[in-house]
Amino acid sequence: MIRNALRLGRIWGIEIGIDWSWFIVFALITWTLSAHVFYFENPHWPPGAYWLTGVLTSLLFFASVLAHELGHSFVALRTGLPVRSITLFLFGGVAQIAREPSRPSQEFWIAVAGPAVSVALGLLFGLLALSAPARSPLEALAGWLSRINFLLALFNLLPGFPMDGGRVLRAVLWGTTGDLLKATRIASWAGRGIAYLIMLAGVLLVVLLGDWLSALWFLLIGLFLENAAASSYEQLALREALRRHRAGELLRPVDDRVAVPPDLSLEELVHGYILRTGQRCFPVIDASGRLLGIVGLHHVKGIPREVWASTPVAEAMTPVERVVKVGPDEPLDALMERMSVDGVNQVLVVEDGRLLGLVSRDRLIEFMKTRAELGI
Ligand SMILES: [Zn+2]
Repeated sequence: MIRNALRLGRIWGIEIGIDWSWFIVFALITWTLSAHVFYFENPHWPPGAYWLTGVLTSLLFFASVLAHELGHSFVALRTGLPVRSITLFLFGGVAQIAREPSRPSQEFWIAVAGPAVSVALGLLFGLLALSAPARSPLEALAGWLSRINFLLALFNLLPGFPMDGGRVLRAVLWGTTGDLLKATRIASWAGRGIAYLIMLAGVLLVVLLGDWLSALWFLLIGLFLENAAASSYEQLALREALRRHRAGELLRPVDDRVAVPPDLSLEELVHGYILRTGQRCFPVIDASGRLLGIVGLHHVKGIPREVWASTPVAEAMTPVERVVKVGPDEPLDALMERMSVDGVNQVLVVEDGRLLGLVSRDRLIEFMKTRAELGI
């Protein structure tokens, strides 16, 4: 589920992982705290205390980011949205929620839960700092963590999608207009606007203060946010477009012309059907016209070439009982979700127990490409 990430384990069934880019931030924060912040604020500490406190503070900072994401996840799970994974990376944490919220209120509460956890942690570390001995490592650690958690809550509440504040904005717009696509469009514009302001702040940092390191950081965060805002709107627009079309529109009817018999060899399937027609998937139908299963390119690929001639398609196919079936009115966005969740390349379209045809992943992708080319 988490690509290129170091897996730490599971919390509430959610896979927790660390992307390699996280180690850059960990090193950077530890170094900044140990060699600069703590060193200049507390010159009397024994040597070694700076690095020890720095590493501990960094680790607790990332635990705070994880807690923020667990806040979002807790509400998502409680309101019925599955959460696949939480990954910590260069710019913080991200919780992979399997589906979009279905109601504005659900989106609102999921969005505010993260910053709420950060504010609570900010208060908790603040109290700890106040009760710690003055100028002690504990005071420095808790004080910094208190400030950073408040900052984290504030930054995430900036009203630009897909940040938490942008999600709150979208939930409010969605609730008042009833139009999710329009709400997302406006919230994404706000997200891109904020991203450009952050990049502008980066430029000003260089020009006015000559602070290259912070400037680079601002530019990277701005670029990341701009990209995230633009692409999350595009994804939603695509899904909304697919929602208006039905499986029945894309199905390829199952008849003798596109079907193969069960005793056909894989060798014949490849040369006589797949290569000749360019079609990648065929229904398997017996002499009485009964559908037995589905066979395609991906079935053949898993079988050694030497046995193609001696293997009938009946042995390689996915039997009809195990093929995913939908009705002709199934919206294409739901169809696409089923294909990716179940990991299948085609679904059968059935109506009242009667087989109408099949829709393949290739056909769906081709449909989306053609739409994009036409700009509709
Ligand atoms: Zn958040």
